[in-house]
Amino acid sequence: MGSIRKSWIPIAVAVWAVSGAGGWWTAAWAVNTDNRVGNLNYQVECVNGVEGSVQGPVCRTDNATLSYYMDSSGEFELESPDREHVTWIMANRYDPTDLSVSYDSSPTFSGSAETDVIYQEGIVTSGYIGATWCNDSSPSPIYECDQQYVRIRGNGVYDRPVVCHETGHAVGLLHGQNSSPVTSNSDPDLGCMTTPVSTSLLGQNQINRINSMY
Ligand SMILES: [Zn+2]
Repeated sequence: MGSIRKSWIPIAVAVWAVSGAGGWWTAAWAVNTDNRVGNLNYQVECVNGVEGSVQGPVCRTDNATLSYYMDSSGEFELESPDREHVTWIMANRYDPTDLSVSYDSSPTFSGSAETDVIYQEGIVTSGYIGATWCNDSSPSPIYECDQQYVRIRGNGVYDRPVVCHETGHAVGLLHGQNSSPVTSNSDPDLGCMTTPVSTSLLGQNQINRINSMY
């Protein structure tokens, strides 16, 4: 995909008016919810978050070329099973989208072309199993972040659905309560973006939303 951005494609309005012999009536049908940052119910500017905190806004990575790194030493190092979960999700769920995903074994933490997502294992906000936060919101488009961190708790918590969920936040996907139309946080259309996190992995609606952003 290089760094060429596709245009932002609006999702068709789901109400259809029909004129019949009996007069006007409207038909509405279920529509896959739009849970991208920038939807009608979530136009929150990307700003830097706080380390390990779920309190910051959801941002989206700054282009379709998604590089990632897994902490390999120190306090937030991923253990072998954690690394396998991240590697599997990136290769089998996110790379097949219009994102071009690659591992960056020589990560960059400053400048204008930082490694996009840094995975860690460690403590996050009390009551949560994972957090994604922006570390460099400098790109000018209001929803974009140059570098984000994903941190997930250890001790058996680090698994594929949680990696899928937190990575979804890093590419600009939201919970149901922030979607348009607002939907349940457990709506199956949300794939792995449900809360509590389900065993589903990404899902077609989420793939479509990603591909409309990148
Ligand atoms: Zn979440």
